[in-house]
Amino acid sequence: MPTGPAVIGVAASDGGLLRPEVVGLPAYDPGADPDDDPTRSGSTRVLTLSSNESPYGPSAAAVGAVRLRVTSDLARYPDPRGKRLTGALAARLDVPPRRIVLGNGSENILELLCHAVLRPGDVVTTQAPGFSLHEIFPRLMGARVVKVAPGPDFAFDSAGWRDALATGPRMVFIANPCNPTGVMLDRNELDVIINSAPRDALLVLDEAYHEYARGHPGFPDGFGTLCGLARPWIVLRTFSKAYGLAGLRVGYGVASDEALVDALHRVRTPYNVNQLAQHAAVAALSDDDHVWTVVGRTKSERGRVRALLVEAGLRVAPSVANFLFIDTGRPATTVAAALFRAGIIVKPWREPGWERYIRASLALPPDNDRFVAELRRVCA
Ligand SMILES: *Cc1c(COP(=O)(O)O)cnc(C)c1O
Repeated sequence: MPTGPAVIGVAASDGGLLRPEVVGLPAYDPGADPDDDPTRSGSTRVLTLSSNESPYGPSAAAVGAVRLRVTSDLARYPDPRGKRLTGALAARLDVPPRRIVLGNGSENILELLCHAVLRPGDVVTTQAPGFSLHEIFPRLMGARVVKVAPGPDFAFDSAGWRDALATGPRMVFIANPCNPTGVMLDRNELDVIINSAPRDALLVLDEAYHEYARGHPGFPDGFGTLCGLARPWIVLRTFSKAYGLAGLRVGYGVASDEALVDALHRVRTPYNVNQLAQHAAVAALSDDDHVWTVVGRTKSERGRVRALLVEAGLRVAPSVANFLFIDTGRPATTVAAALFRAGIIVKPWREPGWERYIRASLALPPDNDRFVAELRRVCA
């Protein structure tokens, strides 16, 4: 195929064709591609631990729902309002359906929120190290992102949060538990953030890993906490992690009021959540046993793997999620490259100050053992 001349002058000082916010935007890092694995021709199975997916997969009920729709519904547009899924979520959370919004993954809702709310020059406050989309989407809108890092041993930095929130953010992104550390905020820490943020700032509580953390001593009921407040907020959850449906792309938000949800409906593309995802999510929601089994097994592996790594002399953040954030004591990109050669994909962290850390998802027990053995070898 002939390659045409480069026609978009992205290097032009005014950005050329592109908006200046886009020219400087960091790309989302999805992790290494298993198709590039040099060991693929060999006998080693590639183990992907870079995206916090569930090794247990979805509920059989969700798979059944997809099978049914594949044979009947593919020529039809999905329900643009996602009524069945919204209704099922509303019943479960005991909120009116009009306070729920669905997204093509919860990342889609993060994007919609930024589109609906942010003006150039706005400030957004979030965690460091943190979820890259909490930074990328605000920057796309011309906002400035102020990040708050934890203290030693991942301790919550109250003073740091108070200072950052005093800069007057329009939006605050809080992941609880946090990605990549897996560390949770307790009720007091959440209250520090809530009470220090400007009263008209939108609080976005990203609970992508909520199912793994729920029930952990001290893990707060974020939704219940926010429900009592007369200020704008939204809680985000997803079917991608504990429900094992990352490939279908479906997440949801529950908001403080209908007006916010209404704004997101106007901003989104009309058919943003596909047919199969909607039906699979309804079915997945009805199978609590599956989620409990997944969460139970993940928690026991989390304790076991963390103990093995600590025993090997590595520092590991106290995660309540389905992944571990590990200080390898050397450049993480080197460690990740060595693991990659052994057929294991992890995420080397790149934020300034955290470049010795890798994030690795918890897998099935034998795969976790393989990861621990290879990491020990690489870090020996
Ligand atoms: C995985 C993740 C999400 C979103 O995932 P979706 O697949 O888009 O639902 C959102 N926030 C955090 C912090 C995550 O780790």
